[in-house]
Amino acid sequence: MKVLIASRNRDKIRELGELFSAYTAGIKLELLSLDDVGFYGEIEEDGSSFAENAMIKAKAGAAFSGLTTIADDSGLCVYALDGAPGVYSARYAGEGHDDAANNEKLLRELRGVKDRSAAYVCAIAAVFPAGTPLEGDPVTVEGRCEGEILCAPRGTGGFGYDPLFWFDPYGKSFGETDPDDKNAVSHRGEAVKLLAAELDKRVAEKKEELWRKSGLC
Ligand code: IMP
Repeated sequence: MKVLIASRNRDKIRELGELFSAYTAGIKLELLSLDDVGFYGEIEEDGSSFAENAMIKAKAGAAFSGLTTIADDSGLCVYALDGAPGVYSARYAGEGHDDAANNEKLLRELRGVKDRSAAYVCAIAAVFPAGTPLEGDPVTVEGRCEGEILCAPRGTGGFGYDPLFWFDPYGKSFGETDPDDKNAVSHRGEAVKLLAAELDKRVAEKKEELWRKSGLC
């Protein structure tokens, strides 16, 4: 089944492909990027939640391509900061700033704060346009991964806020964690697992519908 991932980020598409093939039992997905379908425009992510932003991107991709389309949106939510940086995670220190600047700003905002608990959140939206194999209502799922924000970075692996994100069950920051170990517990892995279950359910329902229509059972 052809599925558009409403993203241009090759690494993200590869990672989602690996996660989906690990978690979907009933279907093999051929993942395409926005570039693959000739969508070169920008999609404005002006939603107030990860789920809204994911759905904005999935709907735009589906409207353009007519394909089943999946999009994600993710970020870090710190409880003591009322959920910030949240949907602004990528540009917390301002447009055009990098991960290092975002991490520095986070440490500044948390100076002297005792409760440093936080969660990575990932929403994935899927849109199934008319005429596609699983045509039906859109769906959004959300995965979370709970941790704490360190007072200084540890490790150089991962990306974004990973060197500051302490994951207690591993006794390490995500900056010190092997990528496969991170995928096994990450917000993104959790969201893909939930969506894969939904896709498998829809495939089973479609198969049953086809059997019923065929009159063979
Ligand atoms: P996006 O949804 O992939 O665009 O991610 C938005 C931003 O959230 C990233 O630029 C990072 O700052 C942050 N983020 C999301 N997921 C992760 C993660 O797994 N590790 C570190 N930072 C993340």
